[in-house]
Amino acid sequence: MLKPAVISKLQEITGKAAVLTAKEDLAVYSFDATGIWSHLPDVVVLPTTSEQISRIMKLANEEKIPVTARGGGTGLAGSAVPVKGGIVLVTTRLNKILEVNKANLSIVVESGLVLQEMNVELAKLGLFFPPDPQSFNGCTIGGVVAMNSGGPACVKYGVVKQYVLGLEVVLATGEIVKLGGTTSKNRQGYELAILFAGSEGTLGIITKVTLRLLPAPQARKSMIAVFNDVTVAGEAVSAIIASGTIPSKIEMLDNWFLQRIEKLTPMGLPVDADAMLIIQIDGTVETIESDARRIFDILKKSGAKDARLAKDDAESAQFWTARSGGMAAVSSAARVNLSEDVTVPRNKIPDYIKGIREIAKKHDLTIVLSGHAGDGNIHPSILTDDRDKVHFARAHKAMDEIVDMALALGGVISGEHGIGISKQRYFKKAVDPVAIEIMRKIKGALDPNNILNPDKIWEN
Ligand SMILES: Cc1cc2nc3c(=O)[nH]c(=O)nc-3n(C[C@H](O)[C@H](O)[C@H](O)COP(=O)(O)OP(=O)(O)OC[C@H]3O[C@@H](n4cnc5c(N)ncnc54)[C@H](O)[C@@H]3O)c2cc1C
Repeated sequence: MLKPAVISKLQEITGKAAVLTAKEDLAVYSFDATGIWSHLPDVVVLPTTSEQISRIMKLANEEKIPVTARGGGTGLAGSAVPVKGGIVLVTTRLNKILEVNKANLSIVVESGLVLQEMNVELAKLGLFFPPDPQSFNGCTIGGVVAMNSGGPACVKYGVVKQYVLGLEVVLATGEIVKLGGTTSKNRQGYELAILFAGSEGTLGIITKVTLRLLPAPQARKSMIAVFNDVTVAGEAVSAIIASGTIPSKIEMLDNWFLQRIEKLTPMGLPVDADAMLIIQIDGTVETIESDARRIFDILKKSGAKDARLAKDDAESAQFWTARSGGMAAVSSAARVNLSEDVTVPRNKIPDYIKGIREIAKKHDLTIVLSGHAGDGNIHPSILTDDRDKVHFARAHKAMDEIVDMALALGGVISGEHGIGISKQRYFKKAVDPVAIEIMRKIKGALDPNNILNPDKIWEN
């Protein structure tokens, strides 16, 4: 419970209408897209400028009030859940595009801008920001930087941190600091802007972001490949990566997803296949035909039962609609969808898939596979029910085994969704203890009172 004087000061800083304290308003900001964790904040503030955020942070630091930054609330790790109450600081009213510089291939935006709104403006100018978390209609630029998000196009183009040139950040103390810059090369001491990529709101509030852009590809083509065995689909992905012709997207749906999506939205999916790959190639008009032929040959040689190019843009859009239906398909299928984000080296994808199938059989569980196959980032989801204690315990045991297997294959516990709350229990076994100690020292140096998104990443 905050002192009434704190609420009054917040109202003084942002104006009364931007400070929410009604229980039904607080409830809206108590959870993220996992829907698993929920905690009411004491107050929600919706500032409109960096200066307001600076004053809020000064106040919070003096009063030692926890502050959880929140963009679109689309995170999948519980990172934006205000587990210690306090202030939820929503960035969505800082939503302007400040500068697009075509000659420098860069853009400066406020951190609460929704990703898709930026993409629409860039498309008008023939420009392109490749990382494409599939929550693009709701996630914010500050959120994707704070989570160092990925998405299907990362196979070819990499994740968000590879596009961060500079940031404006408000520190826990309220100081406003500029990190990095606008140049594509920048060697001025430690890469502090990149430190904030993936920091999950624990080091500072990102208020402005300068991003590197690319010219939009001239041409794109999509294809699907159908397999009788999901492991063979995994082998085909490794073969494509090894070939040197890298598609912009290689996504996978297993048989469970094909059946479920077809049931929810009939579109003629190959429901008898064990897995389907959806692939996009991009490039110039001259290169795209030969690249497509090369990928096509690899798929056939790797054992695809069938592979074909989309006949037109409409069919291509249909392939990608099927893929984006994956999240809705799985989250509506069971009371609890225990889903993870482990990622393995790309040459280990077949071993990883085989291992998951064995774990599912051993524990008699439905474990379904979808996701960014080209990155070794295939999300396993276990369909379970927390009211059935025995089943639920078995599901957790199986997930622990999946994580152990991924680590043994040289993988990581999170490829893109972050640690938040959801992966804290795996953090210590995945990360070198000395590295954890360095992270704790960085956190201590930037946030000595531990007010910024406390109890995240670190095990409680
Ligand atoms: C349907 C769906 C599909 C998804 N697909 C993908 C995908 O393909 N790839 C992928 O990587 N992720 C994916 N995600 C996860 C999610 O969308 C991303 O993590 C997203 O980038 C979070 O952005 P947000 O604005 O919603 O952040 P929020 O959920 O609001 O916050 C996430 C974290 O960032 C911090 N934060 C937010 N804004 C700031 C700021 N300005 N300064 C400091 N910290 C801040 C918060 O404190 C929190 O810790 C998906 C989610 C959904 C629901």
